[in-house]
Amino acid sequence: MGLAHISTGELLREEAAKKTTLGERVGGYLEKGELVPDEIVNGMVRERIQEEGFILDGYPRNLSQAEALTQMLKTLGLSLDAAVLLEVDEETVVDRLSSRLVCSRCEAVYNLLSPPQRDGLCDRCGGPLHQRDDDRPELVRKRLRDYRAEMAPVIDYYRARGLLRPVDGEGSEEEVYRRIMEALS
Ligand code: AMP
Repeated sequence: MGLAHISTGELLREEAAKKTTLGERVGGYLEKGELVPDEIVNGMVRERIQEEGFILDGYPRNLSQAEALTQMLKTLGLSLDAAVLLEVDEETVVDRLSSRLVCSRCEAVYNLLSPPQRDGLCDRCGGPLHQRDDDRPELVRKRLRDYRAEMAPVIDYYRARGLLRPVDGEGSEEEVYRRIMEALS
């Protein structure tokens, strides 16, 4: 769709990899699978929002971020078109994340359902694949518990504004992609 892809998780992992004071602070939250404080994440998003259009991935993660986003967009004279909610059974999430491998170079994602063609190497750029530190099963369960608690009011917030587009996230990448495109059309 030619939209900027703004993934707060990716931005935070990049920040943590820099050994700056901010990076070390951010890394501490990532290691524990905890949300990074709102003022840090909101600031990163504010810098990257583009008038030409964008997809926010992994943001907002709680009600205070959703409210901050509304304010941010208002200041820029922009608004959201849709909030896509991918609905997936908890066991599917645990299976997908605990078998997930991510490319260290381009962040392409693989798992048991969509494995790479060559073991340990990215199909797209040939980079080495690794498991994310926070994809260990015990941390995945913690992140899911937090997700349910923090996201319930965010879901209500977008439903009340007529923006929520629930999409069935079970099945193959192609099926889910098709459903997302339908929900946005
Ligand atoms: P993700 O790549 O979206 O799974 O995010 C990985 C980790 O980055 C999360 O477990 C959080 O620690 C942090 N993170 C990502 N997005 C946010 C956000 N919007 N607010 C706070 N922390 C975030």
